[in-house]
Amino acid sequence: MTRLLEVKDLKVSFLIPAGEVQAVRGVTFSLDKGESVAIVGESGCGKSVTAHTIMRLLQSPPAVIRGGSVLLEGRNLLDLTEKEMQKLRGNEIGMIFQDPMTSLNPTMKIGKQIAEGVKLHMDVNTEEAKKRALDMENLVGFPNPERRYNQYPHEFSGGMRQRAMIAMSLACEPKILIADEPTTALDVTIQAQILELMKDIQKRLDTAIILITHDLGIVADVCHRVMVMYAGKIVESGSIDDIYHHPQHPYTWGLLKSVPRLDSQEKHRLVPIPGQPPDLIKPPVGCAFMPRCKYALKVCVEHDPPHFQAADGHQAACWLLHPDAQAAREAVGLEA
Ligand code: SF4
Ligand code: MG
Repeated sequence: MTRLLEVKDLKVSFLIPAGEVQAVRGVTFSLDKGESVAIVGESGCGKSVTAHTIMRLLQSPPAVIRGGSVLLEGRNLLDLTEKEMQKLRGNEIGMIFQDPMTSLNPTMKIGKQIAEGVKLHMDVNTEEAKKRALDMENLVGFPNPERRYNQYPHEFSGGMRQRAMIAMSLACEPKILIADEPTTALDVTIQAQILELMKDIQKRLDTAIILITHDLGIVADVCHRVMVMYAGKIVESGSIDDIYHHPQHPYTWGLLKSVPRLDSQEKHRLVPIPGQPPDLIKPPVGCAFMPRCKYALKVCVEHDPPHFQAADGHQAACWLLHPDAQAAREAVGLEA
């Protein structure tokens, strides 16, 4: 069976005066119909670059794709012309961003913007497009769709604008919705509402979702799987249960410690991971997390860890999972 999306060994660089920044260094993952995955990591880890490459939204130059493929139902998006991509964007893959104002046209009524997108991709007349736009406004929970249809983006609150973006991006029923930090700019209550909405829509439309975030705290409710990225690579991937209850990579342990708990009454202090990610102009030969890792072994300095299988569907790129590292694992307090 063909997978909905298969990203294979994707490598993306940025050419800047100081050199070549290897932003994405061999990313591989797949996504099935109706599935939702999160890509989690600190800013600069390559998660947004991965998403923008899938959508072919990177400016080239300075961006260059150094290798790999992005197969949408078997078709390599990296081989398509810009014209073919335009047909596909919004129609087969939709995307929402942190700041809806970057995607909304400030001079056009919200309803019209949704309807325009529908007309662009679907074979419908103006009236049908309007009806579709109103349906979408309903779907994303606009209180008064008819009135909202005729309002401009500046008349909307941040949360309502994000709902409008979601309506726009889903109007043509894309198979995949990519959400890049969709709730970062919103306050906690609105954030929870938007995530709830995404979850609800996913169930109703069976849309696959790629949720990109620096915040592990928001993914458990929305996603089935999590991929943790560090310094341009996926360092751990697994189910929600694997990542939250049996994390294997020291970087994931660090991220989990810095999760502010939404379910808790008291405010937990964020515990940042000490140190900085490496310079990706000269990526380290060994494990990129080594300078920040309390558990580093001798091998970590010289050799980049491969992905080890921790459990079915759960992998981590850390030498602690090597069968010979048993003693080191026990010393760290991991189960054998
Ligand atoms: Fe730490 Fe080594 Fe694992 Fe890297 S491979 S995370 S340095 S223990
Ligand atoms: Mg980003």
